Amino acid sequence: MLEERTYKVNLKCVFCKAKTFQLPYEGYKPVSGDMIRCANCGHSNDYTFIRRIAINKIVAKIEKDFTNEIKSMFKKAGFKVK
Ligand SMILES: [Zn+2]
Repeated sequence: MLEERTYKVNLKCVFCKAKTFQLPYEGYKPVSGDMIRCANCGHSNDYTFIRRIAINKIVAKIEKDFTNEIKSMFKKAGFKVK
């Protein structure tokens, strides 16, 4: 079922697409408005901004998965789906 799937938010540097960030201390959790520094290129990223991009991607993926799920359900039920 769709609900059992897990979707991971992957934050990416807007400059180099790296997924690693330098965190000021262990266990640090960025909050809205924080700037986090890319561990690869050293640019500062707006946490709120890159988080929004990551979430938008996930939403798009969920919608796609959901559509596929519905289609396969219809197919199994014997309907023809384009
Ligand atoms: Zn970077």
